[in-house]
Amino acid sequence: MTAHPHVPMLALDTLWFQVAGTICNITCTHCFISCSPTNHSHEMLSLTDVETRLAEARVLGVRDYYFTGGEPFMNRDMIPILRATLEQGPASVLTNGMLLRKEICAQLRELMDRSEYSLDLRVSLDGFDAASHDAIRGKGVWDRVMIGLRNLAEVGINPVITVTEAADGAATELGRARLLEMIRSFGFDKPRLKILPLFHIGAEATRSRPYEPWEILNDMLTEDDASVLQCSTSRMVTSKGVYVCPILLDYDEARMSDSIEESLRPFPLKFGACHTCWVDGVSCRT
Ligand code: SF4
Ligand code: SF4
Repeated sequence: MTAHPHVPMLALDTLWFQVAGTICNITCTHCFISCSPTNHSHEMLSLTDVETRLAEARVLGVRDYYFTGGEPFMNRDMIPILRATLEQGPASVLTNGMLLRKEICAQLRELMDRSEYSLDLRVSLDGFDAASHDAIRGKGVWDRVMIGLRNLAEVGINPVITVTEAADGAATELGRARLLEMIRSFGFDKPRLKILPLFHIGAEATRSRPYEPWEILNDMLTEDDASVLQCSTSRMVTSKGVYVCPILLDYDEARMSDSIEESLRPFPLKFGACHTCWVDGVSCRT
């Protein structure tokens, strides 16, 4: 039997919320949890669900909070959820940018102005233009995101643009330069860019390829090694309990417990995605 390294829980700094479950208004061909309008594998979290977890997190000394899905702004409680979170710490929202209507952007601006903690937005784009982006994210999505970005710019919110390596050449020096220039052209003078590798699970396993058997971690990790993995400092809250990280949501073995506190224990890194995290130094945090 292969011995897999275990990642220790060093300190719970970050708490993630799968706030929209696996429900999304689009169906990207590279989505590592195959989110879609009809995927109810994880359900949305209510304001009460989030408030209950925030109370747990306060006791445990969590420093910051991330919200993802699916598409977070499909959750009708999203603004009240952010309001409650910002009373306790900084928050970041990962969105596909399609629902950033003017009223939502104005409400986000108001939350930012009223809170002593920061609120950050991450908007996904997977291409250098409408054609390359929509080939991955769906027809007409680029145009909707452009409206959302314009609405953000109008209220002075400068989002981080997240691009995966599904966008050809995104991770090259030239690709980065092109993307930064593209973000400037949207009206953001100080472009913010995050490039993410692909996880070969979910829809992406079909679009490109699944993991090969050799893509597995066998070597033991030192504490220094482990500290670069986000699972040593974060956990993910979903409608089905607490999971080890934002990536392995389709794996029952990645569900650690009902309570956050019970989840603060080592986890075996036996998944192909763990190989990507280690080799590429991935963190889903900004
Ligand atoms: S990658 Fe993001 S926007 Fe695309 S289907 Fe998955 S959750 Fe939705
Ligand atoms: S997929 Fe990455 S973040 Fe999740 S348990 Fe494996 S190494 Fe940790």
